[in-house]
This record gives sequence, C-alpha cells and structure tokens, in this order.
Amino acid sequence: MKVGIPRAFLYYKYHVLWETFFEELGIDYIVSPETNKDIIKRGEAHAMDESCLSSKIFTGHVDYLIDKCDYIFIPRVATLGSHKETVCSKFQAIYDVINNIYREKNLKILYYSIDILNKDTELKAFLKMGKFLGKKKVQVLKAYYIAKQAEKTAKMIDLNNQNNLLDSDKLKILVVSHPYNIYDEYIGKPIMDTLNELGCEAILACVVDEKKARDRAKKISGTLPWTFNKELVGAISLYKEKVDGIILVSSFPCGPDSLVNEMILRRLKGKPIINLILDGQEGTAGMETRIESFVDILNLQKEGGIHE
Ligand code: SF4
Repeated sequence: MKVGIPRAFLYYKYHVLWETFFEELGIDYIVSPETNKDIIKRGEAHAMDESCLSSKIFTGHVDYLIDKCDYIFIPRVATLGSHKETVCSKFQAIYDVINNIYREKNLKILYYSIDILNKDTELKAFLKMGKFLGKKKVQVLKAYYIAKQAEKTAKMIDLNNQNNLLDSDKLKILVVSHPYNIYDEYIGKPIMDTLNELGCEAILACVVDEKKARDRAKKISGTLPWTFNKELVGAISLYKEKVDGIILVSSFPCGPDSLVNEMILRRLKGKPIINLILDGQEGTAGMETRIESFVDILNLQKEGGIHE
C-alpha cells in the first residue's frame, strides 16, 4: 500500500510526525512535489471559486497525487485546545470537501480526526489510523511515540537556529504567516528570497514555542478563537522587541487572517508593519517593490534618519 501526502496545509506543521510514523510502521509513502504552476492550475480548476489560495493549493496537490498512490492522506482537525478555541473551518472540512470534489473518482482517503473537546485526542486518532493500516496496537504506540520524539527534536532545532538569527546584526524582519504559506515554494519562497537578497534576516513567527505563544496571545486579545492564529499573535508579542519590522503575510481570501491582521494593525504600536496578501497570480514584482520600500524605510530608521 502506498500513501500519498499532499505537500500543503498541515504538512508543514506535522510532516516530521507523519513521515516518522509511517516509516516506523513500514508504510510506503510519497509526498507531492513543491508547489509549481501546474499544481496551482490543478487547484484552481478543481477547488471552489471562493476557497482561499492555500486550500486551492492543497487541492492541486491532491489532484497531482491521484493515480500515483493507493490512499491520499487528509487529516481532519477540529479543536486542539481549550473550549474557547477552534481552528479554521477549512481543516475540519477539507476531508469532506476533497471527497465531494472527486466524488466521481471514488477517492480512497486515509485520515485521522482530532477534536480534543470531544475527547478525540491525537494519540487516539493515531491508534485508530494504525488499526486501519492493519498494524498491532503495540506497534502503533511505539511508532507514535518515536514520531512524537522526532517532532519535538525537529522543533527544538528550528527554534535554536532561529534564536541564533535573533543575534544577527542584519536588519531583522518578523514574517507572520501560516507555515503552509511561507514555506510554500510558489507563494512563500519569493518573499524569503527577496528579504535575503535585501540583506535582511527573516524571523518566522511560526517557529515558536507554541504553548508559550498561545499564552502570550492573551495579552493582545483574550477572545481570539483560532488556535493557529493565536500562536502567530503570541509569537509577535514574544519576538517584537527583537526585530526591526513586521510583515504580515496572508493568502486571499483568508477570513481568520483578515480579522486578526486588522486587530494586529490597530493594537500593535511602535513597530513598522506591512500586510502582504498572496493571490497566486503570476509575477512577484509588486510584492518585491513593497518589501524593498519597507526595507528602505527600516534601514533609514535604523540609521537614525527617520524619527517617529
Ligand atoms: S486560515 Fe486562512 S489561509 Fe488558512 S485555511 Fe483558513 S482561510 Fe485558508
């Protein structure tokens, strides 16, 4: 049996966990390639018009994987934390959405479902998935705990690397984006490349101690409902004194980000900030120009040429 993993959405948050889990169980898997023009076109052709760009990209990766594997891996996540929290509805609905889009193809989907509020924990979800894969409980438990350890280690390494960047003398810019946008080759990498070419150090808000960030988010808003946005908002609070400016990056049209970014722009004082919306259209010239002007202003400010 071969499992196909779409390189989109939660892949960027959980790929170490997933890949290690499948490897430990001896399950063969493939990951779709980095997003490219063809994948974007596939996503746009099949996804609902009103979907956000990130979910169109996810659909494009699923489309690529059809006929290349036996099962496509699409986890479903509803709630991950306290009773006041949820995640964007796309992560609850994507399993059904994909099933519906490809209903005529009779797609085989491998999934797990997490809904902490209804006591469907991650461990329970992985145990069920392992059983579906025909593995013994003891094997699945072992694979899960090894995968969790690998995930923890990978996160620690990322965090340590980022902490080293915070000591850099370069201009430091906090990039506030969901990992599936900023790590995406087609929509996120041009931003990272531009910052790099301009001699800046990009600090990623999604590389953060997630629990600490969720706690810190309460300082900015006590009522934010979306767990992943909470982590980004908390990261702003944790990193803001160590960076020179902030770039908010969202995909079009993202409901949670549009509300949260508006709140950040209103409440965050004393730090230059811009908002970039990614629409997946060809050409990055407009985005590059905006980043260049922003960096020019930050450089002038750093050299003492602009006073608030
Ligand atoms: S948070 Fe925004 S970008 Fe992410 S899946 Fe939801 S609508 Fe799309």
